[in-house]
Amino acid sequence: MGAWQQDASISTPCHGPKRPPTLPMNSPTSTPAKPAAATPARAAAALLARHWDGKLPVDPLRIAAALGIRVVARGGADDPDYAYSGYFDNSGGQPVIEYNRGESVVRQRFTLAHELGHYALGHASSPRDTPANFTTGVSDKAERQANRFAAELLMPAKEVRIVVQGGLFKDVAELAGAFHTSQAAMVYRLQSLGLIP
Ligand SMILES: [Zn+2]
Repeated sequence: MGAWQQDASISTPCHGPKRPPTLPMNSPTSTPAKPAAATPARAAAALLARHWDGKLPVDPLRIAAALGIRVVARGGADDPDYAYSGYFDNSGGQPVIEYNRGESVVRQRFTLAHELGHYALGHASSPRDTPANFTTGVSDKAERQANRFAAELLMPAKEVRIVVQGGLFKDVAELAGAFHTSQAAMVYRLQSLGLIP
């Protein structure tokens, strides 16, 4: 039997294309059906829609509480050896976020938002977050996503555009004050939204 006959035996009957070809469920080339991974922007918008009262500044502690996440303050005078900015642990069934209360308040807020990002984006428990993980130069994908999430959560695009385009604040310092972020974080956000060069 020639090869052409074998080919003919598995060809599609000639009834014309009525529907797109489908892959069998157990095809080795198919991947398990699951929702597309949430982007940091979408994940932050979803959390804000569900758990934000619409008041500025956004309160990441309140959002963490609404999600049932245990938040632990570390560092400071009572815990001087705590060398990290934050930490996220989801290994024991009860998600836990730590943040360093010895750092500036705007940093603490960004840390909380960043750790919420690890939670909302379904990341595995994060290694302890060093200050370097909060810089724009960090190369680890999960850390970059968590930083992006934090910016989206604390400086929601819609609200930033409204206040900037409404001329409600005279400079970055006032804007950062309203959103309770660092000026550096606000400048980066304004650039990423195309509101400043
Ligand atoms: Zn992190």
